[in-house]
Amino acid sequence: MSDVVIIKEVVDECYDTKTFRFDWDADARPGQFIMVWVPGIDEIPMSISGIDGREKSITVKAIGDATRAIHGFVAGDRLRIRGPFGNGFDLSKGELLIIGGGVGAAAVMPAIAQTGADAIIAARSERDVIMDSVASSRSKNVWIATDDGSRGFHGNAVQLMKERVREKHYDCVVACGPEVMLWFTFKACQELGLECQLSLERYMKCGAGVCGCCVMDDSRICRDGPVFDSEKLSRLTEFGVAKRDECGRTVKFR
Ligand SMILES: Cc1cc2nc3c(=O)[nH]c(=O)nc-3n(C[C@H](O)[C@H](O)[C@H](O)COP(=O)(O)OP(=O)(O)OC[C@H]3O[C@@H](n4cnc5c(N)ncnc54)[C@H](O)[C@@H]3O)c2cc1C
Repeated sequence: MSDVVIIKEVVDECYDTKTFRFDWDADARPGQFIMVWVPGIDEIPMSISGIDGREKSITVKAIGDATRAIHGFVAGDRLRIRGPFGNGFDLSKGELLIIGGGVGAAAVMPAIAQTGADAIIAARSERDVIMDSVASSRSKNVWIATDDGSRGFHGNAVQLMKERVREKHYDCVVACGPEVMLWFTFKACQELGLECQLSLERYMKCGAGVCGCCVMDDSRICRDGPVFDSEKLSRLTEFGVAKRDECGRTVKFR
């Protein structure tokens, strides 16, 4: 079943990323996603980047045909969506350190809003940083990391995470971002003896666990994930290694 919602507002987050706000009577949890239908092009997964009662949002980075088409939508336009899908984050794990890398910041924003937990927003450079003001309005400690040092900490999210963990005790790291970032976050958490919950991204068609496109070992990313804990991640043999494209071909990360 799908729903039609009307876009209330479009916010420019940076040069290639926009947030679309709409009212939608659905119970959504931080870390869940929806499928967005883009007429004549595709239906694609998008994390729910804002949950404020009826008001929800998605935050879209324009990288291909479907996402560029969504960028053409304006307030008043209709969106056909399905969901919410996926398990979402378990936010009851004590003191959290939440990390969003690139457009992955969108997926962790509701978790920051709901918990007020310490957060790291990481990006390639200053011009790629998104949603830091949203995070800062909910959390006392929001740190920015940029690869080129143009804003905040000079280095990547994992390097900054290691610094923060040295200074304060955390029970669990919650993160979404590029798979290379998630892989090194996982490795660092293993070394530090810290639990983590990471939101993974894989090509998916149905979003509801039926088509099998996003299967990894014994798990469907759309239905059993997209969030996996440390214990489960350690058993996913393709995590950090390879993903499949829309034709099912293996694409290696390294
Ligand atoms: C659970 C889940 C949640 C997601 N949440 C978000 C979200 O909140 N915001 C968001 O913008 N995207 C999100 N995505 C990713 C989004 O669904 C894809 O970027 C989108 O499907 C691309 O569609 P397209 O037609 O625009 O590009 P395509 O035509 O499919 O891809 C265009 C080109 O970009 C490359 N490409 C694909 N993905 C990426 C990438 N991530 N970065 C750089 N290049 C890439 C492809 O290999 C291809 O060469 C999510 C994905 C999943 C699985």
